[in-house]
This record gives sequence, C-alpha cells and structure tokens, in this order.
Amino acid sequence: MDYYIEPIARLISELSKLPGIGNKTAQRLAFYIINMPDEQVGQLASAIAEVKNKIRYCSICQNITDVNPCRICTNPQRDPSIICVVEDPRDVIAMEKTRDFRGLYHVLHGVISPMNGIGPDDIKIKELIARVSDDTVKEVILATNPDVEGEATAVYISKLLKPMGIKVTRIAHGLPVGGDLEYADEVTLSKALEGRREM
Ligand SMILES: [Zn+2]
Repeated sequence: MDYYIEPIARLISELSKLPGIGNKTAQRLAFYIINMPDEQVGQLASAIAEVKNKIRYCSICQNITDVNPCRICTNPQRDPSIICVVEDPRDVIAMEKTRDFRGLYHVLHGVISPMNGIGPDDIKIKELIARVSDDTVKEVILATNPDVEGEATAVYISKLLKPMGIKVTRIAHGLPVGGDLEYADEVTLSKALEGRREM
C-alpha cells in the first residue's frame, strides 16, 4: 500500500478490518469517503463513535441497548414467564420480526466452542441462571442455532435448568418454507422429523 499517502493508507487499513470488506472494497470505500461532503463524513464518523459510547448490554437480558434495562425487558406487554435464549443480538431482531414471540430474551453472546477455546463461563450463562432463579420464569426456550455448537450449548443449559424445575424447550428445526424434501440434507430432515407435531 506504498502508493497511498499515509491518511488514505490508514483509512483503507482500518476499513479492511471490517467483516466482509476486502482490500479492494476498502479502497473503493476510502475514495468514496474522500469525495463525500464534509458534513456527511462528520455524520458517519460521529455515528461510529456514538454507537460505541451509547450502546451497552442490558443488565437483565444482555441484549445491546441504549437504555438500561432495555425496552423489551421493561415493556409491560411482554410475558416475563418465558425467556427465549439466543446466541446473538441479531437473533433477537430476527425473532422480533416474526411478531410471534411475546416473552423476554436472553442473549448469550456466543456459544460453547471448545475448538475455539470458548467455555460456559465465556458466554452469558451465569446471568441466565441468576435470572431464572426467581419464581417468575416458567419456561426457557433454547433458540441457539441448529449446528453442533448451538446444540451442545442448548444441551448444556438444559441440564442446568431442568433441576431448577423450569420447563425447557428447544425450537423446532426443519425444512425451510418452500424447501424441497429431496434436496434437504439428512440432519435437517432428521431434525424436521424429530420436531414433528400432531395435526
Ligand atoms: Zn433487556
């Protein structure tokens, strides 16, 4: 990157650290930014700085929020007796879009992954156990991803919760809507069979 003068090289280098941004895209974005009006660049820079300053974890559900507790945790319309456990704040957004779930959430911020050196203490499991210790919570839905680590994390959590007398459920995984049985892989198909319900 010797061809670039220092400030541009630095911007390209910072941009290329972002996920999904390769060197080429970083260069394109950098030159786009150079040509942007000053005011717009200021807004972009302050939006980046502000998101780090104002966003924190909700002390109850661990989701990212600008107010503590977050708006979901303090919403009187939500049912505090059901907690849906997800891996990531983006999963909360996905669930909220369905408009079907009216309980509360718990965000783990990851999954147990011995391969990557992530143990139960590295994600927000303690916080979940502390939450369900009072009598309000009746059911915990484990909505971690249907991959090996997500499954293992769900099993781990359910073993902790069951002795506490809480109903523990796992979201059903199966065929995507519009999916074709023929093209489904065997794990998906066997999960779909396992999650069958009476009609
Ligand atoms: Zn919250």
